[in-house]
Amino acid sequence: MNSIPYGRQNITQEDIDAVVTTLQSDFLTQGPKIKDFEDGFAEYVGARYAVAVSNGTAALHLCALALDVDKKSNVITTPITFAASANCIRYCGGQLTFVDIDPLTILLDLNQVESTLKKSRKQYAGIVAVDFAGLPVNLEEVRQIASKYGLWIIEDSCHAPGGYFTDSKGVVQTCGNGEYADLAIFSFHPVKHIATGEGGMITTNDEKLYNRLLKLRTHGITKDPSLMLENHGGWYMEMQELGYNYRLTDFQAALGLTQLKRADLGLARRREIAEQYKNAFEGQQSIKWQSSVIDGHAYHLYVIQVADRLGLYNHLKKNNIYAQIHYIPCHLMPYYKQFGWKKGDMPHAERYYEQCISLPVYPTLTDDELNFVIQTILEYTNE
Ligand SMILES: *Cc1c(COP(=O)(O)O)cnc(C)c1O
Repeated sequence: MNSIPYGRQNITQEDIDAVVTTLQSDFLTQGPKIKDFEDGFAEYVGARYAVAVSNGTAALHLCALALDVDKKSNVITTPITFAASANCIRYCGGQLTFVDIDPLTILLDLNQVESTLKKSRKQYAGIVAVDFAGLPVNLEEVRQIASKYGLWIIEDSCHAPGGYFTDSKGVVQTCGNGEYADLAIFSFHPVKHIATGEGGMITTNDEKLYNRLLKLRTHGITKDPSLMLENHGGWYMEMQELGYNYRLTDFQAALGLTQLKRADLGLARRREIAEQYKNAFEGQQSIKWQSSVIDGHAYHLYVIQVADRLGLYNHLKKNNIYAQIHYIPCHLMPYYKQFGWKKGDMPHAERYYEQCISLPVYPTLTDDELNFVIQTILEYTNE
């Protein structure tokens, strides 16, 4: 059997044709495919605006800039996420407060968020909420807390395009739809649901933030006459603040568009795979999995927790199955330890990390491969 990674892209002839067509067109970058991709993606998640950028990390950085994060800003996030969710605050000089996870959902524990805010003498600026593994954070509850303390919300939805939760009014809230979060971000890295090589997207319903993001994405420059202070003629543009070049190329956007068309198919297959894992592990005392009390999980990852994680990891590897670990807690990274974070600060996150392992889940994983993975795991845990 071929080696089986934990995640991989699905590139079809349609994708290849779309990229080639764009390569032969007038625009390699800053052309029409960008807006097409943005419009299509905004519609997919149900947001008013979308801004395509060069990767998910750039998306996070631009969000922090657009929300005016600076060295006076204190921001709350989860330790169980990819480092970029926290790093974007540091890029702007802000400080992170990690708050422990709920051990059942592996998401930020909102009770602890609230008690942190209540007892702290610090002024907080915002929360970076992460839809870890594809399980959507209940943003309605995050918003209630945020409103009480005057905080903004960035939803890091890299794991959850197409995911949703149902709010207290019974309304289905799609990840990134901008209903409760100020800004949401996505990544198009090959292991994510939609792949453009490198790529990212920011979605929002806030027109001011949207215009600011467009400017920050391209050096802080605007060419929109309605936004300029002066106008000397057709060539005129203004650099109004310090921005970056975080643009996506047109051929990546073309790839994103054809990938987006198949996003629901891929998501359905991810949910099918998750269902089969769940069925296979039901009744196995030695295997725990992320409790999803809500539907709408997008299954970027299928994580299980076992006591002998290293043993299982090595056993799978011996069988050419390359499971992964998501994540080493951010607060234990040497970079973050310099700010005083240490082992013991986040007991739930740390215990989770000792036991977690992400199993293969991606649309092109075949039933034969899936059964092989399941058998290989059961063979080990039943020994
Ligand atoms: C992938 C990912 C990112 C960063 O995205 P890149 O496109 O790799 O920069 C940020 N946050 C989370 C949770 C991710 O999974």
